[in-house]
Amino acid sequence: MRVLVTGGCGFIGTAIVDLLLRRGIQVVNLDKLTTSANPAALSEWEGTPRYEVVQGDICDLEKILSVLENFQPDCIIHAAAETDVDRSLQSTAQFLQTNFVGTYTMLEAARHWWAGRGGDYRFLHISTDEVFGGLSDSDPGFSEQSAYAPNSPYAASKAAGDHLVRAWGQTYGLPVVTTHCSNNYGPWQFPEKLIPLMITNGADGEPMAISGAGHIVHDWVHVEDHAQAVRTVLEHGENCATYNIGGSSDQPHVEIVHMICVELDRRFPDRAPHSRMIQHIDDTRAEDARYAVDTSKIWRELRWRPETEFRSGLSRTVDWYLENRPWWQKIRQNRATGAADQRAA
Ligand code: NAD
Repeated sequence: MRVLVTGGCGFIGTAIVDLLLRRGIQVVNLDKLTTSANPAALSEWEGTPRYEVVQGDICDLEKILSVLENFQPDCIIHAAAETDVDRSLQSTAQFLQTNFVGTYTMLEAARHWWAGRGGDYRFLHISTDEVFGGLSDSDPGFSEQSAYAPNSPYAASKAAGDHLVRAWGQTYGLPVVTTHCSNNYGPWQFPEKLIPLMITNGADGEPMAISGAGHIVHDWVHVEDHAQAVRTVLEHGENCATYNIGGSSDQPHVEIVHMICVELDRRFPDRAPHSRMIQHIDDTRAEDARYAVDTSKIWRELRWRPETEFRSGLSRTVDWYLENRPWWQKIRQNRATGAADQRAA
């Protein structure tokens, strides 16, 4: 099998590329190498003949067509996106360009390239549960039938891309499939995201600041489980279907931070309790939002479910960050000094 992955240098993309390469699959990774990219996570595959990174923009039709022509993939996994919700408020046009126009360009490239070739192929679009908006405490988790109700420019731009994917499947018969995943965590996540931020701040003796009371609830899935789910959908999902992916682990932010403190207390008892470093900062945005996904469809139809229980996944993640200090400390220093290139060496 030959798979073109877009955004394969991002947090989730690197886990997917790593999994595919471990399974002996040939991969081309098309990535613009923005400040979100982290090629270091795939350094062990450098020089492998089965793997190539191509720097390119998913909005550049000529570039994509030339990659398709040269590589002749059987499948595309489309993971490239602008993903930071806070940044989507300041750089909305960039989010629309990448997540909407970029997805349109990928679909058009796939449609033209595959036209008349026949054979088995697939376009897997990676989306997010955030397209469904938030839930109240009593609501069931989002199902594949839930109505779209995006609440941020990021979520709206992803929702717009999802609609294009569906339309290209219905109108042109492009064999598309879409996944909606909840929040991911695990190794190589940039240290400004909640879980690595709390681990690295706690490890460095800095305040562990939570927005508001920290009662916002998300479902969390380990990134390696997400990658396995994507592979399962790629191989066995139904054309034009959508699948929710999640960890069946709804956790309020404040509880996650307390769990991290317990993990740090165990490793550094002389500095316990780390919970004394927790601070609550004012932030009224979406304070009480709850996000949860119903993953019964992917289990029922494709027999996928997450292998990583949240507490053990979190514990492994704490270990990973403690063992990989040079990587995240360099990123933190670069960000502190406002360096333009925030990528890890
Ligand atoms: P990320 O920000 O870590 O990585 C995105 C990657 O896309 C980067 O390598 C970046 O260089 C690349 N990219 C950005 N713009 C590009 C462009 N125009 N052309 C080519 N490459 C470009 O993102 P992530 O967290 O790995 O998310 C990957 C996908 O998974 C996204 O589609 C996101 O919406 C979805 N998702 C993420 C989460 C999560 O918790 N992180 C949850 C659900 C769904």
